[in-house]
Amino acid sequence: MKIYLVGGAVRDNLLGLPHHEKDWVVVGSTPEEMMKLNFRPVGKDFPVFLHPETHEEYALARTERKTGKGYTQFVFHADPTVTLEEDLKRRDLTINAMAMDGDKIIDPYDGQDDLEHKLLRHVSEAFVEDPVRLLRVGRFLARFYYLGFSVDPKTLLLMREMVQAGEVDALVPDRVWQETDRALGEKNPEKFFEVLEQCGALKILFGNLHVPRNFKDYKNPVRFASLFLNNTLLDIESFCKKYPVPAYYRELAVLANQYQKTELKNPEDIIALLEKLDAYRRPERFEDLLLIMINPELLKSAYESSKIIDITKLQKLGLEGKDLGEAIHQERIKTVQESINKFREL
Ligand code: ATP
Ligand code: MG
Repeated sequence: MKIYLVGGAVRDNLLGLPHHEKDWVVVGSTPEEMMKLNFRPVGKDFPVFLHPETHEEYALARTERKTGKGYTQFVFHADPTVTLEEDLKRRDLTINAMAMDGDKIIDPYDGQDDLEHKLLRHVSEAFVEDPVRLLRVGRFLARFYYLGFSVDPKTLLLMREMVQAGEVDALVPDRVWQETDRALGEKNPEKFFEVLEQCGALKILFGNLHVPRNFKDYKNPVRFASLFLNNTLLDIESFCKKYPVPAYYRELAVLANQYQKTELKNPEDIIALLEKLDAYRRPERFEDLLLIMINPELLKSAYESSKIIDITKLQKLGLEGKDLGEAIHQERIKTVQESINKFREL
């Protein structure tokens, strides 16, 4: 048997980028031989194994054929006669379809050319067999756009045909969310949505989403929230119903959408907003929200001056329950007013 490094590690090597995980392809072997060498199978019908020590993925060279309409109706064909070239041919993009044997690069589909011309291009017509590839192209553009990459017009054409053939309906929500979340973590998430728009998939997947033109350099939940600033609460609700969005992402999106543009004319307004955002009990979430609120400095300093209230003093006055709550509220307003006055005296 013969083992080659494949996929992202080869691509990133050539781009001079760091790569965290390595994928390997094994030509001329069988599941039985792999098991004998103490590789552990991943799943049941999948010809993929984990290395006993490094735990990296080793896949038997395979071809794939789509058997049914829709999705995941694939028949894998992995036997020792499947060649490296055949295995590389079923991959999505040419830049992902290269292998390395030591220092030698095996590149039957001109991935190096496309790296040079900064093109995301499909390997073969078999591209149309898996709609996940629509999302992957978007994600890779989101990742490499800053290097000057674009989608090959012919690939985009194929993607449009796939959408017109109804392939998007076959995508499972889990996978759509997984790819979307990963895209949100890339340098230019807006490109992910742009590509989906260009091939006609955006509306089918996400409805009438108004995607911002750019995303600031924040973490995924904050970026998710900023995705909905120009949409309605209902848009957030239906998105989260359709896809397995984590609760924290959704909370941020809802709060930012509702309160981002709150007018702050006086200390009462400011404290009312801090309380609606639950800033005193959820300080970390508040920090995340500040990244997309329109008055972050004002809110932050008001929060800092009002977060420590002498509650025991109020309790000693015999206050409790609702009255105590109201007294705390008033006390907070007072501290904000005082800090504004102090600021004016300076
Ligand atoms: P990353 O840096 O995100 O890991 P990657 O290129 O390594 O990027 P993986 O999802 O780890 O992407 O997949 C490894 C390789 O498997 C890809 O480079 C590609 O060749 C192939 N591949 C993965 N998913 C698909 C797919 N849906 N269709 C075709 N080929 C795929
Ligand atoms: Mg990978």
